[in-house]
Amino acid sequence: MKRFKAALIDMDGVLYDSMRGHAASWKKMCDEIGLDTDPDEFYMYEGMTGKATINLLMKRERGHEVSDEEAARLYAIKTANFRALGPAPVMPGAQRMIAALGALSMTRVLVTGSAQASLLDKLEHDYPGVFVDGRRVTALDVKHGKPDPEPYLKGASLVGAHPADCMVVENAPLGVRAGKAAGCFVCAVMTGPVPREEFVKEGADMIFNSMEEFADYLEGILENKQLRK
Ligand code: MG
Repeated sequence: MKRFKAALIDMDGVLYDSMRGHAASWKKMCDEIGLDTDPDEFYMYEGMTGKATINLLMKRERGHEVSDEEAARLYAIKTANFRALGPAPVMPGAQRMIAALGALSMTRVLVTGSAQASLLDKLEHDYPGVFVDGRRVTALDVKHGKPDPEPYLKGASLVGAHPADCMVVENAPLGVRAGKAAGCFVCAVMTGPVPREEFVKEGADMIFNSMEEFADYLEGILENKQLRK
């Protein structure tokens, strides 16, 4: 693997094992309004805005999109469902991954489509000193969310790195698409039910079966480097 200046790191499904909760919150809201959905399909929409997800489902199931007000109302229900679940657990292996990226001299930057305060506030507790001010791109910092390249371009420019010198860490196909469109090297980590082909289709440069596997891989690089010293 080449030397990267920065690691641009997604949050949901990467730093936190939160996608199960997001998917369940979507499913509950849809069930309540009688919208027929598959429990696993929400993993494919990760990265899309709430409004875009709602309109995709409405168009498919009812043949029409909804007003911005109705989309906002439904999305608020989904968000409340998620909050009621309590804070999501740290993704097993993610703290080792973050430590290894730091030891490999990569500047670590958070690049998330989330604006969910419950998780953003927890970052300093679970990953102390890593995602400090100036090392975070959230939903509030961009005009266009993933799969648009803007969030990852912004993450790279925050730390003065060329996108080609950045490694993206993603768990979602649309996130992989955003990273590739920005011109970054993208590591996809399969932490949910999305099949491998979806990450291949989006052009992921490397695909790992779990966060533990990715952390092992990075620690292996580190060990080799130290042996060579
Ligand atoms: Mg994610």
